[in-house]
Amino acid sequence: MPQHDVLIIGAGLAGQRAALAAAQGGVSVAIISKVHPVRSHSVAAAGGINAAISVSDDWRSHAYDTVKGSDFLGDQDAIEVMCREAPGEVTATSSTSVSHSIATTQGSSTCAPSAARR
Ligand SMILES: Cc1cc2nc3c(=O)[nH]c(=O)nc-3n(C[C@H](O)[C@H](O)[C@H](O)COP(=O)(O)OP(=O)(O)OC[C@H]3O[C@@H](n4cnc5c(N)ncnc54)[C@H](O)[C@@H]3O)c2cc1C
Repeated sequence: MPQHDVLIIGAGLAGQRAALAAAQGGVSVAIISKVHPVRSHSVAAAGGINAAISVSDDWRSHAYDTVKGSDFLGDQDAIEVMCREAPGEVTATSSTSVSHSIATTQGSSTCAPSAARR
C-alpha cells in the first residue's frame, strides 16, 4: 500500500497549491480526487484572478470590494489574508507552470491564467 506523509483530498487549485507547498517542505504527498484534476472547477474558471499587482493598486481596496461584494457576509479575516497574499501567489504561480496574461485598469489588476482564455 502506498504511504505518504500528507494526503490531500481534492485536485483543484487549492489542493494542488497545498500539495506543492507540502512537497516543497520536503514531505511525501498524495492527492485523491473524485474527478480528474482537469474536470475540477478550477479549470472552468475563465474570468480571472484579481490581485493588487500594479504599483498604483492596493490590496486594501481589493479587500474592501470583496467584503462589500459579499454583502458583508464574508469572513473578513480570511478576505484580508487572501487579498494581502494574492500578489505574491500570482507571482509565485507565474514562476511555475501557470502563465498569466495581466491587465491593469484604473488602479485594479486582473490576471487570467492563459489556459482559461482558450
Ligand atoms: C464555470 C465557472 C467559472 C468560474 N470562474 C471563475 C473566475 O473567473 N474567477 C474566480 O476567481 N473563480 C471562478 N470560479 C470559481 C473557482 O473556479 C472556484 O472558486 C475554485 O476553482 C475553487 O477551487 P478549489 O480547488 O477549492 O475547488 P475545485 O477546483 O472545485 O476542486 C475541488 C476538488 O475536490 C475534489 N472532490 C470533491 N469532492 C470530493 C470527494 N468527496 N472526494 C474526493 N475528492 C473530491 C474534486 O474532484 C476536485 O478535484 C468559477 C467556477 C466555475 C464553475
